[in-house]
Amino acid sequence: MIIFVLLNNFSQAQQQPELSAGYQSAKKLINAVRGNQLDYLKHALQLEETFQTIKKNSWEALHLEAAALYSELLFRQEKYLALAEHLETYIEVEALKQQWDLYLLFQESKLKLLLRQEDTAAQQSLAKQLEEWLPERPPKQKIIILRTLAYYHTNKDGLKNTLDVALTGLKLSKADDDLASQGFFLRKIGDTYNFLEEKDKGLEFSKRAVNVYEQTKDELFTAKAHWSLGNTLLEAKETTQAIVYLKKALAYFKSVNMLKGLTFSQYSLASVLFSEQQYKDALSLANKNAVLAKSAGVYDMQLASMILISDIYLEQGLFENANEVNDQVFSILDKFTRSSYKSNFLAKRYELKRRLNLTDDAFEAIEQELFFTKKHLEATSENNIKTLQVKFEVKEKEDEILRLAHQKDISEFKAKEEYQQKLIWRLSTAIAIILIAVSLLLFFRQVRQRQKYHSIALTDYLTNCPNRRGIMQAAADNVQKQGLTIAIVDLDFFKKINDQFGHDVGDLVLVAFADAAQKTLRKHDKFGRYGGEEWLFVLNTTNISAVQDIFTRLSKNFASYCIDIKANNPAIDWAITFSMGATISTKTSTNLEELITEADKRLYEAKENGRNQLIIE
Ligand code: GH3
Ligand code: MG
Ligand code: MG
Repeated sequence: MIIFVLLNNFSQAQQQPELSAGYQSAKKLINAVRGNQLDYLKHALQLEETFQTIKKNSWEALHLEAAALYSELLFRQEKYLALAEHLETYIEVEALKQQWDLYLLFQESKLKLLLRQEDTAAQQSLAKQLEEWLPERPPKQKIIILRTLAYYHTNKDGLKNTLDVALTGLKLSKADDDLASQGFFLRKIGDTYNFLEEKDKGLEFSKRAVNVYEQTKDELFTAKAHWSLGNTLLEAKETTQAIVYLKKALAYFKSVNMLKGLTFSQYSLASVLFSEQQYKDALSLANKNAVLAKSAGVYDMQLASMILISDIYLEQGLFENANEVNDQVFSILDKFTRSSYKSNFLAKRYELKRRLNLTDDAFEAIEQELFFTKKHLEATSENNIKTLQVKFEVKEKEDEILRLAHQKDISEFKAKEEYQQKLIWRLSTAIAIILIAVSLLLFFRQVRQRQKYHSIALTDYLTNCPNRRGIMQAAADNVQKQGLTIAIVDLDFFKKINDQFGHDVGDLVLVAFADAAQKTLRKHDKFGRYGGEEWLFVLNTTNISAVQDIFTRLSKNFASYCIDIKANNPAIDWAITFSMGATISTKTSTNLEELITEADKRLYEAKENGRNQLIIE
């Protein structure tokens, strides 16, 4: 009996896979990747082959661990469809429930994948599940959960929560000597502080993240950490240092062949070169990046690089080139993800088109800018207030920690502590007041901005008087209230000025007319630009001779505003005049459309009758 058992054991040992060289090297690779001794992307092929071999040979002890690492690889490779399938195969496997650390790694991949999809309910419920597991788990598993939650909260703009979990995660991963997780938490903390405008802390944590990652072999994340730090330094105007880190980021992204990262860091570097007036280098890098970003499908970077190219041309006075690139960007503007990117570009486009006298394009650009700015404001007005709230909560939490720290020494320093508590209380009151003041300031600034955009929408960009929408609104407000006169003015032979002296001179005449009308009208009379060189007047009178008087004074004032234009263009040897058709509401109608049609008929008669005259009835 005994002999039989021994023999049986021996034959099993012979088949034990642990003894084969293939098994040993698979195990070694897995340990190295898991311990961050090898970079996922750089050893992608090896990892994939190893995973397949393990599956083929049914080496069960390694199977789930390799599968967990393989999900992280798929995520880094941005192969989201394959990852979804992979997770489906493994995440419900029974044996996984006995290996919680692997189970959690799968959950980490799953939540990261869910965050790329629309289903918020699924994201929330998994996050909640993780929070529930957290208190029960040993430190190593806690680190995985906190890492996942930090990723989740960053994606949801939850600044306070990100800071919360990342600070706890940092403490645990330090105690556990887990460098890669430390780096991850440090970078999240740095980014969050930056976002909360605490630039000093932001810089400090970003630097620590770089230092820690450099001790690992995780090159992708080392690259990201360098890139974050480079940008933080750029914001702090530490350009020389920033370049160092951005270049390092570039090298790391290249080394792991991550095109997306490459386009980001190349763009930052090209911007730095531009701001340092190294136009030739900036141009060639921006061009290179636009091509790369396009082929890699990173459209935000493609467009940003093209805008940079246009800016460089502008700075060099190459308007034609700038204009060409600008038009190209405009034709694919939809590819930009954010409204603010679009409105910033459109503002630049408006300036350029005005400069090149391309009036129609300029007008289109500013109209669209208004549209996207509004969209952006609507989207961010809530966020501003959210950010402030979070800032306040974080501050409160820090105060609370301070207070607790003092309480510990309560017996020894009771008197001192009381004094300090008072001080803290006063400080937090002061902070609260400051935050409320800042909220109000931001709120009013936004109201002012909205008013500004509202008035832009009702104002004619050339003459600065009300545009068609503006004057129609004013007319509609008044026409029901009282008797008034509606008049339409059209400049005489205006085409001739445009054709012989160019649109610029035509524009000057339009401005002269608007100035003359401004000077002529009394307080309760209104006018606006109704069309190209047609004007709508809303006169607060029903008296024919009062209207005649306005016409005479307007003719005189217009002539005197045209004196300079004629002096500069002596070939205009005729009087620049206008014709006016008017109708009185009490005699015809109180319907604005009808009144305008009537006035228009009179205007036509005035033109037929030889121009430079008023016809009213
Ligand atoms: P009439 O006396 O019959 O009105 O002759 P006219 O030449 O003024 O003819 P019309 O009113 O049809 O011409 C309008 C012209 O105004 C045509 C268009 O090119 C020009 N125009 C429209 N908007 C602008 C503008 O913003 N700037 C300039 N410079 N010209 C404009
Ligand atoms: Mg006309
Ligand atoms: Mg005309």
